[in-house]
Amino acid sequence: MKIVSDIREMQQLAGHYRQQGKTIGFVPTMGYLHEGHLSLMRRARPQCDILVVSIFVNPTQFGPNEDFERYPRDFDRDERLCREVGVDVVFYPTADAMYPRPYLTYVHVEKLSETMCGASRPGHFRGVTTVVTKLFNIVQPHIAVFGQKDYQQSLIIRQMVRDLNFDVQIDVAPIVREADGLAMSSRNKYLSPEERQQALVLYRSLTRAEELIREGERNVNTLLQAMKTVISEAPDARIDYIAIVDAETLEPLSTVRHNTVIALAVYIGTTRLIDNTWIREKDGKLVGQLVSPRQ
Ligand code: AMP
Repeated sequence: MKIVSDIREMQQLAGHYRQQGKTIGFVPTMGYLHEGHLSLMRRARPQCDILVVSIFVNPTQFGPNEDFERYPRDFDRDERLCREVGVDVVFYPTADAMYPRPYLTYVHVEKLSETMCGASRPGHFRGVTTVVTKLFNIVQPHIAVFGQKDYQQSLIIRQMVRDLNFDVQIDVAPIVREADGLAMSSRNKYLSPEERQQALVLYRSLTRAEELIREGERNVNTLLQAMKTVISEAPDARIDYIAIVDAETLEPLSTVRHNTVIALAVYIGTTRLIDNTWIREKDGKLVGQLVSPRQ
């Protein structure tokens, strides 16, 4: 496994692989890897000849009062995990190399970037789409795998790829959860043991919404109310947003129907966590991804 920090070297290596007719698969991450990240790598592995993983805590996607400085980092562990999964190249650039001064060019996807996480974290998606553009230009992947954990992000990247004619296929992988349902996240490390327990309200509120939908509830306000009730059981939980939206446009809905996403962001103490589920019609019934059908 190669570890490449130099941008030019990564670009030349990618060009070399392409010249040899090799397919490049790519998983961009901010490191501090967990099973969620590893699932993306395992999914990419059989779809490519060369698997590249980037580890880069991207400063431009953090707001001024966010956790850029304290974001967890452990490169040695990440390197070992990448090796175990069979990664070929870890791209590990510095922030100074990625953003030489003066840095003046950004990519912005309108509309989809302005709602939900974009409303709470102004500039966040501009940072994401900018760094993903740069990484695509450096790594030159044929296929890139993202997680549904960041549903809005995956939609914005798909839109950007379509709008800017990037020659890359975007694959979105399911959310990997802890045994009790909490979506895996590098930020879970911030939670105290009590907060870790309270953090389950995100998953519980989503499963509650799914249950109600399964029982026939379609009214968004009723579902929102039920989700809020579940979340209020955690004393240190503060809702940032709950969105019940069209899965393609992210427009708010008043009635749940096929292709609806229920997404939420909740602070547990000072840690902001996100989660979501996707509601689709199957055999004439609306079903989500979390609650399995009763036998
Ligand atoms: P991050 O390092 O948090 O920027 O995440 C890198 C990639 O891993 C993104 O595409 C995320 O959506 C994905 N990811 C993070 N957590 C999970 C998870 N629990 N399940 C699946 N994918 C995830």
